[in-house]
Amino acid sequence: MLKEANDETLSFVINELPEDEEPPSLHSSSSEVRNDSLIKNGSQINQSEDDLISSSAQSASFMVSHFPGTRPEEWNDWKWQLRNSITKFNELSEFMHLSEHELNASLNNDYALPLRITPYYLSLLSVNNPDQALRRSVVPTFDELIFSEGEASDPLMEEHDSPVPCIVHRYRDRVLFLVTGFCSTYCRYCTRSHMVAKEEKSKTGTESWMKGIEYIREHTEIRDVLISGGDALTLSDNRLEFLLSRLRSIPHLEFIRIGSKVPVVMPQRITKTLAGILKNYHPLWMSIHFTHPDELTPEVAQACGRLADAGMPLGSQTVLLKGINDDVDTMKRLMHGLLKIRVRPYYLYQCDPILGSKHFRTPVEKGLEIISGLRGHTTGYAVPTYVIDAPGGGGKIPLLPENYAGRDGNFVLLRNYENKIFRYPDM
Ligand code: SF4
Repeated sequence: MLKEANDETLSFVINELPEDEEPPSLHSSSSEVRNDSLIKNGSQINQSEDDLISSSAQSASFMVSHFPGTRPEEWNDWKWQLRNSITKFNELSEFMHLSEHELNASLNNDYALPLRITPYYLSLLSVNNPDQALRRSVVPTFDELIFSEGEASDPLMEEHDSPVPCIVHRYRDRVLFLVTGFCSTYCRYCTRSHMVAKEEKSKTGTESWMKGIEYIREHTEIRDVLISGGDALTLSDNRLEFLLSRLRSIPHLEFIRIGSKVPVVMPQRITKTLAGILKNYHPLWMSIHFTHPDELTPEVAQACGRLADAGMPLGSQTVLLKGINDDVDTMKRLMHGLLKIRVRPYYLYQCDPILGSKHFRTPVEKGLEIISGLRGHTTGYAVPTYVIDAPGGGGKIPLLPENYAGRDGNFVLLRNYENKIFRYPDM
């Protein structure tokens, strides 16, 4: 419960936010989103062209072939991208030849995560090759329904470290603030699939935010907040500014970070207006989730350039994925490409053992091999830190020789910063 003294402030603040500024409903299909308040208010395109990201030749040609009649300024509007995202297999089958494995997935509704792909990201997917890296990362397959030993819905036990609904407080001086359960595109290997896109678990309305903000205000040891979700950049400008301004008013909070995949799957969201808003809340850093060098398009370069020009230090986070980016050459191309668009490679994550993730997970030795293939072979800025988020809540453990404590059968033994040993299922 919030302290009584703050209840007045809370109701005042909540009333400040118009209803139509809520993010889209977690389970919105594209047609439902098409009818949302953004349209009802007639505000679907209210940005000047200069504010928008301009499309590349590839996107423009995809738009003409697959969304005939769409104007470039619609395509380049992030709200249009959200409204027209693909959320059903029958819609997807109009864009690509689905493999048997993907078709089998379409017969089932038991997935931890729904299907959702923005038209922009869809334009990067192969029509005929189900093994293409980007396609595998966002199109569900039947493999997600096969559960293996060592997997869990919340392997990092984030719910265990959650003192109030949208806060995860694991490390003393910093918290994770889960502000929405919605993403513009769902990654099939998502660590947070236990809460993402789940109304009952994503307690992320304004009232929950205020409880989270109060928690941070009351805990003076917290100096750093990572805003994540879901994806916070799917919130409207007003909602984001509301959140950032409340956080920035907390005197002991030194540093705010946003974790997002939006600049990669919906770069249109990075309008000049948004960059101008973010600029007001420094020090503000951003960790951007990249998977593969094919994501480094002219649109993404523009989006990252705008964020960097707004003074935001940008870092990348990449999940190591079998058959997608698990070789030195792919990883080197990604890291070099990131530096060119002003993003500093930050973390390379071992894929977390969420339910149905075996087809994505590589042996830990593969990650060590990739780091060895980068370190010394290219500029140090291009080498991310390879980490495992220890199952059971042990936190991130960098994979360096001193942290790799050997094997016990199908488990890798890892030593964390407190010299405790954790077992990571590597099977
Ligand atoms: S963008 Fe992040 S939170 Fe959303 S599905 Fe992908 S990994 Fe999960």
